[in-house]
Amino acid sequence: MPVSTPRWILHADMDAFYASIEQRDRPELRGKPVIVGATAARGVVAAASYEARRYGVHSAMPGFRARELCPQGIFLSANMAHYAAVSAQIHDVFLRFTPEVEPLALDEAFLDISGSMRLFGRPIDVAQQLKQAVTEETGLTVSVGLGPCKLVAKIACTLGKPDGLRQVGPEQVPEFLDPLPIRRLWGVGPVLAQRLDSLGIKTLGDLVRFDEGRLERAIGRRAGELQTLARGIDPRPVEADRIPKSYGEENTFEQDVLARDLVSAALTAHAEAVARRLRRDGYRGRTVTLKMKLARARGTRVSRDPHAETEPQYPLLSRSRTLSTATDDGRLIRATLLELWDDAALKEPVRLLGASLSNLEARAEEQLELFGRPREDRLGPALDAIVERFGAGAITRAVDSPHKITPSGRRKRGDP
Ligand SMILES: [Mg+2]
Repeated sequence: MPVSTPRWILHADMDAFYASIEQRDRPELRGKPVIVGATAARGVVAAASYEARRYGVHSAMPGFRARELCPQGIFLSANMAHYAAVSAQIHDVFLRFTPEVEPLALDEAFLDISGSMRLFGRPIDVAQQLKQAVTEETGLTVSVGLGPCKLVAKIACTLGKPDGLRQVGPEQVPEFLDPLPIRRLWGVGPVLAQRLDSLGIKTLGDLVRFDEGRLERAIGRRAGELQTLARGIDPRPVEADRIPKSYGEENTFEQDVLARDLVSAALTAHAEAVARRLRRDGYRGRTVTLKMKLARARGTRVSRDPHAETEPQYPLLSRSRTLSTATDDGRLIRATLLELWDDAALKEPVRLLGASLSNLEARAEEQLELFGRPREDRLGPALDAIVERFGAGAITRAVDSPHKITPSGRRKRGDP
């Protein structure tokens, strides 16, 4: 193996996330046992405040059991859209410390901070600044674990909760892992734990020292993998989920255009194309931008093309509007673009129109799905399936115009 610079992985996990948000937003809930997500007859606990945990309530517990343990608990239904918005805010804070952020859940992420030290100091300094920034900006606390690999960082984080900060250096890994109960290891559920226990393996240290051949005969091929993990050898990289800045489409007209029906046709095509690509990649955006390049050149400028000395300069205008919620709905994007066009009230034709969506966030699909998607959204995925099968020219919304706008041939983000 080549010598490499030390790797530092940070695991961040918000403390009792959903319950803490409720307590933050409603001061009368502070200091009380708050239980989120077990309001329906068959619901399970999505989050329990630390006050509720003292009664033995924990997440994934059936609601009836939580009520038995904590009858005085305050049971709230989950407001996932709100939690997802707070999650996006926290994600933005993480991204200030490193682009290498791998979200695991709304309230949990791995960060590779190996490259962050030059800017932020030692790993512990990075962690402290990150904790402080999250608390300042959200009023919530986050626990942080630092280690040379994901496994160690995650366990360090868990053991430090709540509001924890724990660092385990590479040389401390054996002494840190050895005494831990076997259940702390990823992939060891109750059944496997019992098997291991019956072999006399109770801690990670026991597992490391156990005869490999004998272990393999007892639990199969996973034996080697588990022993390697128990030694703290976990080379899995942090897989960043980078949110792009924007999604856009534009076209240059063959003839300069001012007529609204032509503009509408172009913007409809652009809106649909942008929306389709956003949906494919699982993003929504809040800011709609219309770009208009006027047809009449105002002078020339030095060309970047070495074969031409100058090129005409066309004024480029842009207008933006930020929506109250993020969208991937082509109709809403189209309507907003047309409003922007009308408000611009141009008196002269354009040679190019562009549309883009920025201010993007990842769609919190599974969570929001529980509460039903808004009706207007339903056509989108059906259109996507048709476009996927028959190509972008196969369908347009039955709005206006026979004018066909050919999407540019470039490969774009979100295209199949
Ligand atoms: Mg958490």
